Amino acid sequence: MALIGAALTGCSNSLTDSDEKQAEEAPASSAAQEDEKESTPASGEASTSQNEDIVLSNGMIEVGNPESVEVVVNKQRKLPEGYTPPDLTVPDVPFSFEEDHPKKQLRQEAADALEELFERSDQEGMDLVAASGYRSYERQEAIYERNVEVYGKEETDTFSASPGTSEHQTGLAMDVTSAEMAFKLTQAFGDTPEGEWLADHAYEYGFIIRYPEGDNNITGYKYEPWHLRYVGKEAAAEVHEQQVTLEEFFGYEPVGEAE
Ligand SMILES: [Zn+2]
Repeated sequence: MALIGAALTGCSNSLTDSDEKQAEEAPASSAAQEDEKESTPASGEASTSQNEDIVLSNGMIEVGNPESVEVVVNKQRKLPEGYTPPDLTVPDVPFSFEEDHPKKQLRQEAADALEELFERSDQEGMDLVAASGYRSYERQEAIYERNVEVYGKEETDTFSASPGTSEHQTGLAMDVTSAEMAFKLTQAFGDTPEGEWLADHAYEYGFIIRYPEGDNNITGYKYEPWHLRYVGKEAAAEVHEQQVTLEEFFGYEPVGEAE
């Protein structure tokens, strides 16, 4: 796929990466300050581990619960620099490519759930393939910086996540597609049987469609019917039933372009 095609989504994935470098020690930011941020979860069942966020000097928030399956990462809420998820593993599902690659990985719990989801979808005649999961901080940094070189920062920020703000770095997100889509990640996937099946059933396995149609003013991203995010069965069922974004579900500020 040409760079321009790949670059049109938040899942922009145009670099080949041979090096998954070890995360370097991040220098502690002296400007960072502790903050007793109230997360006021919309759900009474939301985790209490949401209240250790740190407000950075640039106004962004460093999430205090990067290892929680309920972590909310977006353009305002970033992972700690160099964060690497624990227990990454390769789920036993069909992929859109053959070779070994770090992006095949998910965290164990999400990988197990994805295998169950794929098994059921296969039984129901669906033809899903996984395309892109875990992406390291360093790899996201390289992707973002290349996009800035090509498109400029302002344009890049509309489609490409800056380092630390991609959900793919949590190890809890997987882009999926199908042969019918020629393995591409485009919005048309949402109208295919596979896309519709996911919208109806992904929550049963703990996944949500993270960037729903028409909610880019809240999530900061356009509709991505291919981007599955694991949040656990309980939260996924609630998000599905309430038809809300993850930001709304946990009571976080909208992060879209609209002020
Ligand atoms: Zn994605």
